[in-house]
Amino acid sequence: MATESEKTLIDSVPTGLFIGGQWRDSSDGATIKVEDPATGEVLTEVADATVADGTAALDAAVAAQADWAATPPRDRGEILRRAFEAITARADDFAMLMTLEMGKPLAESRGEVTYGAEFFRWFSEEAVRIHGRWSTAPNGATRLMTMKQPVGPTLMITPWNFPLAMGTRKIGPALAAGCTMVVKPASQTPLTMLALADLLTECGVPAGVLNVITTHRTGDVMEPLIRDPRLRKLTFTGSTPVGKALVEQSAEQLLRVSMELGGNAPFLVFGDADVDKAVEGAMLAKMRNIGEACTAANRFLVHESVVEEFSRKFADRMAKLTVGRGTEDGVTVGPLIDDKARAKVTELVDEAREKGATVLVGGSATGDRGYFFEPTVLADVPTDARLFREEIFGPVAPISTFSTDDEAIAKANDTEYGLVAYAFTESLSRVIRVSEALEFGMVGINQGIVSNPSAPFGGVKHSGFGREGGFEGIEEYLETKYVGIAP
Ligand code: NAP
Repeated sequence: MATESEKTLIDSVPTGLFIGGQWRDSSDGATIKVEDPATGEVLTEVADATVADGTAALDAAVAAQADWAATPPRDRGEILRRAFEAITARADDFAMLMTLEMGKPLAESRGEVTYGAEFFRWFSEEAVRIHGRWSTAPNGATRLMTMKQPVGPTLMITPWNFPLAMGTRKIGPALAAGCTMVVKPASQTPLTMLALADLLTECGVPAGVLNVITTHRTGDVMEPLIRDPRLRKLTFTGSTPVGKALVEQSAEQLLRVSMELGGNAPFLVFGDADVDKAVEGAMLAKMRNIGEACTAANRFLVHESVVEEFSRKFADRMAKLTVGRGTEDGVTVGPLIDDKARAKVTELVDEAREKGATVLVGGSATGDRGYFFEPTVLADVPTDARLFREEIFGPVAPISTFSTDDEAIAKANDTEYGLVAYAFTESLSRVIRVSEALEFGMVGINQGIVSNPSAPFGGVKHSGFGREGGFEGIEEYLETKYVGIAP
C-alpha cells in the first residue's frame, strides 16, 4: 500500500489534460488508471483524452506559435533555466513520483532527475546561440543569407521508461528554438509529465506553448494530429514497430520527424580489457533502469581468454543485488513495468535455456505481487537465441564468446538495430578500429553509460534517426531559410 506521504504527493499532481494553459477533464469524462508496478495497486487516475481533446491541444499549440517564436531567445532561455532550478529544488518529489509509477529504485530516479533537468540547463544556454550566416556567392553577384527559424508546432510522444528525461530531452530544445508543442506521455507513467507541466507553467511558459494530453486511445488520438497539416514536426521515443507506423503516417504531409527507437546493444570485452572495469561497466550498462533502457547492454560478447573470469565476477555482482519496491532502503532492482513485460522476459530466458544456455544466477520471475524478475546471467548463449535478436528490456545478461576482432565486430553488427555499442579494451588502436567499424549511433569505450545532455544521443538503422542533446539537439527544431540578396 502507498504510504500517507506517497498519497499526499500523488494527490498534489494535476490529473487533467493541460490545454491552452488550463487543466480540464477529458471531453467524455473517461480516465486511465495509473498503477504501482511493485504492488499492482492503483495509485490514481488521469484524464483519458478523446480525439476532440487532441485537436483542442493542437489548436492551442498553433495559436501560441507566432508569439512564442517572437519571444526573445534570452527570455525563452531564462524560463528553461528557472525550470532547471525548480526541478532540482524538487528533486525528491520528482524522484518519488517516478519510482511510484515506473518502479525504479529511488537512487536511480534521483539520477534521472539530475539527467532530465540538465537538458533544460543545456538548452537554456543554447537558446541564445541560434545562428545563421552571411556570405558572398562565389561569382560575387549576390549575397547569401541563411537564418534559422523554429519548425513550428510539434507533437512529442514519450515512453514510460524514463518519464522525466525523455520529455525534457524534447521539451528543452523545442522551447529554446521557439516551437510550441503537444506532449503525449506514456499511459503507464503520466504523473511525472503532468507535474512537469505544472512546474513549467510556474516558471513562465505561456499558455498554449506546452500542452500535455494523456490518453489510452492512443492511436486514434495521435493519428489525426500527425495527419493535420498544421502540425510541423513529430518527435517520438519508443518501440521500433510503433515508430515505423508513425513514420508511415507522417509521410502523408512529409512531416519533419525524429525517431528514438529500440536498441540491441552489444557489450564487447576484448582479451586485453581490464576485466574489473568491464564488470563495473556491465553492471551499469545492464542494470541501469532495471535493464529497461534502449541503451541497455543486450548481448555480452566476451573474448574466450577472459570469459570465465568476466562471467564469474559479473554473476557474483548480480547475485548481490536486492530486488524490491524502489521506495525501500537498500533496494537496487525494482519491478518490471507490467505483467506483459515480465512474461516476455521469462519467455526469452526459457527459450535460451532450451537452446543450451547455462544459468549462472537468477533465471526466474520472483515476488508474490508486482512484476519482479531476478537479476540473471546466462552463459553459453547461442547467438540465434531470441535473447540476442530482440530487446530484452529486463535484468537479464546473456553471454557469448568470440575469438578474433573481426568475429566480434561481425557479431556486434549482426542486428537490425544500431543505437549504442560498448567496448572494453586497453588498446588505443583497437579503440579506433572498433569505434569506426561498429554500425551504431553511439559507442561507449570502457564505460557502461553514454547518455549525456551535452552529447548527441541517437541511433542508426532500425534504432531511428535524429539526435537529442548536444549542439545537434536544437537543430531538430529549426529550419534553415536561405535568402539571396542582390546588392
Ligand atoms: P511504445 O509502446 O512504442 O510506446 C511509446 C509511446 O508511444 C507511448 O507514449 C505510447 O502510448 C505511444 N504509442 C503506442 N502506440 C501508439 C500509436 N499507435 N500511435 C501513437 N503513439 C503510440 O514503447 P514503450 O514500451 O513505451 O517504450 C519502450 C521502447 O522505447 C523500447 O523499445 C525502448 O528501446 C524505446 N526507447 C528508446 C529510446 C531512445 O532514445 N532510442 C529511449 C527510451 C526508450 P501509450 O503508453 O498510451 O501506449
